[in-house]
Amino acid sequence: MKIKSISAYPLDLRLKEPFVIANETMEIGENVFFKIETDEDITGWGCATPDSVTSETKDTVIDNFNKIVKNILIGQDPTRIHFLNDVIEDKIKGNPSLRAGINMALYDILGKKADMPLFRLLGGYRDKIETSITIGLNPVDVMVEKAKELVSQGFTCLKVKCGMDPDQDIEVVLAIRSTVGPNIKIRLDANEGYTLEKALRVIETLEKLGTDIEMLEQPTPAKYLYALKEVTAQCPVPIMADETALTLRDSLKTVKMEIADMINIKLMKIGGITNAIKANTYAEIAEIPVMIGCMNESMGAMAAGVHFACAFKNVQYADLDSALDFEKDIVKGGATYKDGFVIPSNKPGLGIEVDL
Ligand SMILES: [Mg+2]
Repeated sequence: MKIKSISAYPLDLRLKEPFVIANETMEIGENVFFKIETDEDITGWGCATPDSVTSETKDTVIDNFNKIVKNILIGQDPTRIHFLNDVIEDKIKGNPSLRAGINMALYDILGKKADMPLFRLLGGYRDKIETSITIGLNPVDVMVEKAKELVSQGFTCLKVKCGMDPDQDIEVVLAIRSTVGPNIKIRLDANEGYTLEKALRVIETLEKLGTDIEMLEQPTPAKYLYALKEVTAQCPVPIMADETALTLRDSLKTVKMEIADMINIKLMKIGGITNAIKANTYAEIAEIPVMIGCMNESMGAMAAGVHFACAFKNVQYADLDSALDFEKDIVKGGATYKDGFVIPSNKPGLGIEVDL
């Protein structure tokens, strides 16, 4: 099989409501779709979601796509994924979302060639995974109302954004817990907004009041590795690294230095499925559980995260909800939601249809 043509389609998807977190506010999700056509009538789809966290824009994605990726891929066998990934990484050091979008399109082709859904082709550990659904920063009553609404829709795990104001964070989490009852999981994500002292104050107060927090994600700024390591050592709930575990190398460092109890791997940070496999394997050997998270990803990108999350035992947590946030997505299939779980498509490859 040979790659005949490859095209990129940038598309801004409008969010249903502005998404506020401690280090950013977003109103649209920038997505760049990739279509890879082969001489065997198999077409692969992938999607990049550039983000300020990875120092990318859709312009850097399109630029490197046109200047470098196209020339590398045309005429190549798309099933030689490790080889093609290596050649692309040799030429492009940054732009992990571009590399992720291309890498998942190659896996989509591999799955279609094998006539298997990707999660099964990658190992098929489970056929669905519980996912959190995120509540962005807002006034307390708005966040509590949102929690009520999401639980009534069947979600069983809430990811509550925090990190701007410790006192409000404590108030919000107490109010959400008393509203949703004891059986709903609550995880927190501070997006680098706390100091060591603030993180410990928030968690210790919530624990004393019996709030039962599942985990706290990225309490302190990404670059202060020892602050995060110290929170991890002192905090009574598990700490997850997200912004600290940006690249493959960062993820390995986080695991090796025991900076956090768990790591959040996002395909858009780490540069695709091939690298996510490496990071997850390393984490599993070190007995560090992994969560698969997402950026402002269309289902075109998020579907790859769902397939990945279901393929591997060590992916014990999922935060795969971004595809629900858009006024209108252009992707059908990929994954569905039921009773708090996200379920990958059983169609070959990623199982997505893109309507450009
Ligand atoms: Mg996070």
